Amino acid sequence: MKNANFDNIAGEIANLIKKSSRTCVLTGAGLSTESGIPDFRSPKTGLWNKYDPMELLSTDTLYSNPKLFYTESLKILLPMIEALPNKAHEMLAALEKEGYIYSLTTQNIDNLHYRAGSRKIYEVHGNLRTCHCMQCGRSFDFSIIISKSDNGEIPPLCNECGGVLRTDVVLFGDRMPGCFEEAYNDISGSDLLIVIGSSLQVAPVNMLPQAARKLVIINIGETSYDRRADILYNEKASVALTNIYAELKKEEI
Ligand code: NAD
Repeated sequence: MKNANFDNIAGEIANLIKKSSRTCVLTGAGLSTESGIPDFRSPKTGLWNKYDPMELLSTDTLYSNPKLFYTESLKILLPMIEALPNKAHEMLAALEKEGYIYSLTTQNIDNLHYRAGSRKIYEVHGNLRTCHCMQCGRSFDFSIIISKSDNGEIPPLCNECGGVLRTDVVLFGDRMPGCFEEAYNDISGSDLLIVIGSSLQVAPVNMLPQAARKLVIINIGETSYDRRADILYNEKASVALTNIYAELKKEEI
């Protein structure tokens, strides 16, 4: 890991991006804290301090106690729908548009990368746009869960068959979606992976950095890969990405 030796960490990362013919990005909940969505593990503000997310946001709780699952999980999920992209999301969208980033893999379910303009996104933990019936498999807009819960229908049931509806978020206990393999293939075929705002504690996403040729980590707190990173930038995502973007532009002048 190289960190303190650099006077200009953003400039060094910009150099790596310039040299790389394919750069991939992996983001986590830390990218959206500046949009007002708490992450899981930041001290004091992280959701971990209120609930055990692995227990609550799990297939075990959904299947055994759907009422508890919906009562508590919607308190976590609904604020995500109202949040807006922040500077970090915008910078990543600009970097993709300008050809610096090949693809973006996110653990986030908040849709903020897409709303900011990123397009090649692998949502490996699913999304909050849709839901489906666990009995008949029909797919619906996520808003149906919101309106049913607002009307006291907890758990929300399918209008067609009466089965319990479930979000298309990947819960603890679920299998990973097919796009996880696409993300892995992109990263293993890339020269550089930049991980931003993730503690890299959740499996199997935390295995993706093993496939990286060069690894940059941008994170406020510690991650489980800090020692393996080629460059570690302990800075807020919005500040770090703004600095890196400015360095890339400086070199173009
Ligand atoms: P995590 O909470 O385990 O780690 C977040 C990391 O981001 C922490 O190490 C923290 O120090 C860092 N961080 C916080 N704010 C930052 C900032 N502004 N700039 C840079 N770093 C910052 O999150 P994780 O690794 O993504 O794992 C949590 C799981 O929870 C994921 O599976 C994810 O799907 C889910 N989750 C998603 C959201 C969301 O969609 N916004 C929110 C909470 C949890």
